Amino acid sequence: MDDNKFYSLPKLPYEYTALAPQISEEQLKLHHQKHHQAYVTGANAVLEKIDKARKENADIDMKATLKELSFHIGGFRLHNLFWENLAPSGKGGGGAPKGELAKAITSEFSTFDRFKKEFTQAAASAEGSGWAALTFCRKTKRPLIMQIEKHNVNVIPGFGILMVLDVWEHAYYLDYRNDRVKFVNTFWDIVNWDVVAQRFDTWRK
Ligand code: MN
Repeated sequence: MDDNKFYSLPKLPYEYTALAPQISEEQLKLHHQKHHQAYVTGANAVLEKIDKARKENADIDMKATLKELSFHIGGFRLHNLFWENLAPSGKGGGGAPKGELAKAITSEFSTFDRFKKEFTQAAASAEGSGWAALTFCRKTKRPLIMQIEKHNVNVIPGFGILMVLDVWEHAYYLDYRNDRVKFVNTFWDIVNWDVVAQRFDTWRK
């Protein structure tokens, strides 16, 4: 197996204890080592299945295979983005965006509070398992909130992803039980605005 042609679980950019009390060590470990890992394993298994079928010139169920592939790769990629846009509260996490990102948010949503409210509502109301994402449209230069169901549904192609929040139950159930809104509200204490601003700079150029 050529490792470069497959996915692997990235290390977190902080310790498992670093995001507490917003996300406990137990919750973060489980989420990263079990759930994120499952998408890595899942994506690689589908890729291996495709490779094998091509080698043997065998048929594959294209519809089912591609659906599975986008689910697992979507899950893998979104979790990478999620870990990176978090930081311990007060040590890079929390506060408000600055500079050009702050200007873009205010210009689109009129106030930062209005943006927070809309994003919180998007996260709170994602049906079943899903994500809230702040994205950027290069065509209109507008930041846009995207609500992603599962890992791959409702995605608008080509939009840059600036910030994501995982609202699958596995992301918060140990710490917050069924209270998703409480989890979403604590997200604002650990969001890494510097990383979100770096992504914004990449996409707006
Ligand atoms: Mn997750």
